[in-house]
Amino acid sequence: MKISYDVVIVGGGMVGASVACALGNSSLKVALLDRVPVPAPPEKDYDLRVSAITLAAHTLFENLGAWSGMARRRVSPVREMRVRSGEGSGAIHFNAAEIGEPALAWIIENSVIQAALIERLHQFTNIHSLCPVGITNITLADNGAVVTLNDERTLMAKLLVGADGADSGVRRAAGIETQSLDLHQKGIVATITTEKPHEATARQRFLATGPLAFLPMDEPQTCSIVWSADTARADQLFALDDAAFIHELQNAMGESLGAIQTVSPRAAFPLALSHARAYTAPHLALVGDAAHTVHPLAGQGVNLGFLDAATLAEVLLDATVKHKDIGAHEVLRRYERWRKGNNLAMISITGGFKYLFGNDLPVVSQLRNWGLDLTNAATPVKNFIMRRASGLEGDLPKLAKRVWH
Ligand SMILES: Cc1cc2nc3c(=O)[nH]c(=O)nc-3n(C[C@H](O)[C@H](O)[C@H](O)COP(=O)(O)OP(=O)(O)OC[C@H]3O[C@@H](n4cnc5c(N)ncnc54)[C@H](O)[C@@H]3O)c2cc1C
Repeated sequence: MKISYDVVIVGGGMVGASVACALGNSSLKVALLDRVPVPAPPEKDYDLRVSAITLAAHTLFENLGAWSGMARRRVSPVREMRVRSGEGSGAIHFNAAEIGEPALAWIIENSVIQAALIERLHQFTNIHSLCPVGITNITLADNGAVVTLNDERTLMAKLLVGADGADSGVRRAAGIETQSLDLHQKGIVATITTEKPHEATARQRFLATGPLAFLPMDEPQTCSIVWSADTARADQLFALDDAAFIHELQNAMGESLGAIQTVSPRAAFPLALSHARAYTAPHLALVGDAAHTVHPLAGQGVNLGFLDAATLAEVLLDATVKHKDIGAHEVLRRYERWRKGNNLAMISITGGFKYLFGNDLPVVSQLRNWGLDLTNAATPVKNFIMRRASGLEGDLPKLAKRVWH
């Protein structure tokens, strides 16, 4: 059976689901495909995968009508952020009040974000969620894309959106290469409980082996941790039993949260920087990790993907109003031009951070201490960093911009 769509999105993760919601209530007929069912957020424990969500992404979720679905489940504000170098002598402190905001960012479990977005897109009659489903073939032809499913259905689309993550099959089907840099690091994630409350403060420590972040969860004594370390060190940490892991974690983080009391089962992810040589081709657009991955230290990876999603939707809806072909490469190139510079800048910044903060040379270590202290003392510089990292500055798509009344 052949079914025609305007847009077929492959990948119903956080970014693919955002593209679908952003096209909700439009004249476009949209299908969303994923090979797995929507993950249900755990009721008692926390999802090990969490994201620090910028204020721009928060605005996007509000404008998509998905924020209430997240807030109803579990979200945690970050009101302050304390960053220290490994030696502990350089430090910088950010406070949301300094930029007149109630929060610098929000910590939300990935499954909560995804569940709220999928719940929202079910309310749009022009969006069809076909999850879970298997894809057996993807072909890009002159007049559109053809996606063959494992249940006898064939979907024809004017535009195929690849939102299928870092190992994107859509990107491969389109023959688009990526430039990648293996960071030879892994990120270990876990949920911990501590003796003292986190007071809605995110803490990050730049160790010589890689950055360690403590992200505040909604329980006052619970944090999610992301510990990025060189592969050998990460494998060693991962293999420790809970008591030995807690001991290492305590040594690395110090006493600011008192004694670390419990740690959940851990998961580890290899880290790489990657960037697709092109985000678009005729009848094709890549978004999120399918187009780029960054180091998790700045908490920006999926936030870049959310801005891709909002920008692509804006470009497609503009083209629809002007009766242009949404699969035409010149239409899609506007999306690519808009996002590529921003994403590349973030890849470079996080790569540079890794060099500066993951380097044991005495001169580099002195420089980073001075850098953090000087930045901490210079209020305009600090405010600029805060506004930029929170997504309040920059060339934002309309859906991520606040409407001032
Ligand atoms: C340790 C760690 C910590 C991080 N912390 C942060 C953070 O604090 N803030 C932040 O902004 N980012 C963070 N990131 C990055 C963030 O997790 C990713 O950028 C984000 O998950 C990418 O979302 P996505 O929807 O593009 O891709 P994915 O989450 O990879 O989703 C892709 C979807 O496509 C589906 N799919 C794949 N192939 C197919 C196929 N053939 N057919 C059908 N469906 C398919 C998959 O099932 C999946 O649902 C972190 C990453 C790591 C590793």
